[in-house]
Amino acid sequence: MTRTADIIVIGGGMAGIGAGARLSATSDVIVLERESQPGYHSTGRSAAMFIENYGGPVIRQLTKASRKSLEERNEFWPDPVLGPRGVLYMAQPGEEDALDELIAGSDGSIGHVTVAEACEKVPLLKPEALVRGGYEPDAEDMDVNAILMGFRRLLKANGGEIACSNEVSGLERRDGAWHVTTDGGTYSAAIVVNAAGAWVDVIAGLAGLDPIGFAPCRRTAAIVPTSGVDISSWPTFTVMNESFYFKPEGGKLLVSPADETEVEPHDAFADDMALAEGIDAFGKVVDIEVTRVEHTWGGLRTFSPDRAHVIGFDPRTEGFFWFAGQGGYGIQSAHGGAMLVAGLIHDNDVPAPLAEQGLTRASVAPDRFLG
Ligand SMILES: Cc1cc2nc3c(=O)[nH]c(=O)nc-3n(C[C@H](O)[C@H](O)[C@H](O)COP(=O)(O)OP(=O)(O)OC[C@H]3O[C@@H](n4cnc5c(N)ncnc54)[C@H](O)[C@@H]3O)c2cc1C
Repeated sequence: MTRTADIIVIGGGMAGIGAGARLSATSDVIVLERESQPGYHSTGRSAAMFIENYGGPVIRQLTKASRKSLEERNEFWPDPVLGPRGVLYMAQPGEEDALDELIAGSDGSIGHVTVAEACEKVPLLKPEALVRGGYEPDAEDMDVNAILMGFRRLLKANGGEIACSNEVSGLERRDGAWHVTTDGGTYSAAIVVNAAGAWVDVIAGLAGLDPIGFAPCRRTAAIVPTSGVDISSWPTFTVMNESFYFKPEGGKLLVSPADETEVEPHDAFADDMALAEGIDAFGKVVDIEVTRVEHTWGGLRTFSPDRAHVIGFDPRTEGFFWFAGQGGYGIQSAHGGAMLVAGLIHDNDVPAPLAEQGLTRASVAPDRFLG
């Protein structure tokens, strides 16, 4: 028997659950997820950083609009989901121009720091390896699971449904609705939201649409013990050539080589070679000898051709809505993105908190890639 709804969301990561939660305020929503639980892919593998000066203009607008929602406490997010951390950006010799550009583009939210000031924040830095830096005090840690669970509670409270173990394998438009085939059943709705992360172009193909050209890119991370050094108050740290970054994580360091290797969508795993290079770059700047790593993982950061989100109805067919290209910012921008999806679908408009940030419909529309 076919289950019908107003809107079917494909993908149960942060994007799909967040959009589903906002849409469920006034629509009957079902989220279809292939895995046995939500958040298994990119969402469950992030570094959990909230950094307003990360990414291009659209990402910054969505992230800034997200902050207010992330700071609000209510029945869905009863406990704080942001925690103070800060981020230190350091220039190695030859990277000064990139640092100056970053600081100049931050509207005063990144301040200059000397190497001595940076060493006060991270005492095990090697000062001879660095020239100068910038510090963004308002960068935060995020509780990714709590954010996802809050969206999940909101969706359920509104009568929405998450159907896990339902891999979408067919999409057909007939009689004014999308008919969706999965290995768990059949569904239909006038609107489908494509929030399938690394698989968004695959989903478009099932609907008979040519791909937009998304690039899933692997990123590796590792947990490194620090042999008794108290690193709990250290900020997140990166160098301007992005050869590595680190942040405190449960008394240890999360170190990433910041790799970005384009791959086919798959269940990603760590790239050991990239990790070795990242740890080598880390060792040139930080006086910690990494003799072992405790845990490694990989995940996919999926970018559109201009690296900004794609949010809007596809002009080539009826009722096919893209919520895609979250890249390396899909958690910090999730509230803003979900708000925009609901605004465009329900009100055919950009919601005020996003319009105030300067976000336009055209800057995120799929039309920009469809000539
Ligand atoms: C190492 C790493 C560090 C990161 N750090 C940060 C960070 O600090 N801050 C930040 O904001 N972001 C970060 N990100 C990026 C962030 O994790 C992603 O942007 C975000 O999780 C994307 O969410 P999503 O819902 O689009 O994708 P996903 O979480 O991958 O969800 C997509 C879902 O669609 C499902 N799906 C696919 N095909 C089908 C189908 N046919 N049928 C049904 N379901 C399907 C998949 O099973 C999957 O669950 C990081 C990413 C990585 C890998």
